[in-house]
Amino acid sequence: MINLILFGPPGSGKGTQAANLVERYHLVHISTGDLFRHEIKTETPLGLEAKSYIDRGALVPDSVTIGMLNNKVDAHPEAQGFIFDGFPRTIAQAEALDALLKEKGSPILALIALQVGDEEIVERIKKRGIESGRVDDQNEEVIRKRINVYKQETTPVYDYYNLQHKSHTIKGVGTVEEIFSSLCTLIDAAVAG
Ligand code: ADP
Repeated sequence: MINLILFGPPGSGKGTQAANLVERYHLVHISTGDLFRHEIKTETPLGLEAKSYIDRGALVPDSVTIGMLNNKVDAHPEAQGFIFDGFPRTIAQAEALDALLKEKGSPILALIALQVGDEEIVERIKKRGIESGRVDDQNEEVIRKRINVYKQETTPVYDYYNLQHKSHTIKGVGTVEEIFSSLCTLIDAAVAG
C-alpha cells in the first residue's frame, strides 16, 4: 500500500494535487474538509457540530474528526493506498492514524508538505471563496485565523513524522504540472526505499 499525507497550509493546493495523484497511483483520496462539507450540506448532526468550528476557522474536535476518518478508511478495504488531505492536523490525530494503519499492516510512507507564503495563501483562498461560495473562504479574518491554527496546532505533525524520517517539503508555488512532477519524483523515491 502507498499511504501518503498531503500536508501544507490551507490553500496550498493539496486538493488539486491529490486529484492528480489519485489517477497516477490509484489511491483513495480522503479529504476531511470535503467530508465535513458533505456532512454540513446533508445536515447531519456531525455536520451541524462541525459547522460551528469551521465557520470561525477553528479545528473540529479530535474525537469527531478521528471517528469520521476511521469510518472512511474502513469503508475502503479494497484500497491500494490512501492520500490523506487535511488530516492529521493534530498530534492526537497523527497517533490515531498510525494506530489505525498499524492494524492494517501498512504505515504512512511519506508526509509531503507544500510550502506557500502567507500572503499568497490569503489571495488564493479569497479567490476560491468567490468561485466556490465557501463561507470560511470569504472572510479575511477567518482565513488568517486558519493560517495561525495551522502554524500553532498543525505544524507539530510535520515534526512528529520527521522523527520517523518521513517528512518532506516541496515548493507549492509554480504551475500545477511542475508541483505534480516534484511530488511524483519524491513519491517514487520513497516507494523505491
Ligand atoms: P483548508 O485546508 O483550505 O483550510 P479544508 O477543507 O481542509 O480547508 O478544511 C476546512 C475546515 O474543516 C478547517 O478549517 C477545519 O475547521 C475543518 N477540518 C478539516 N480537517 C480537519 C481536521 N483534520 N481536524 C480538525 N478540523 C478539520
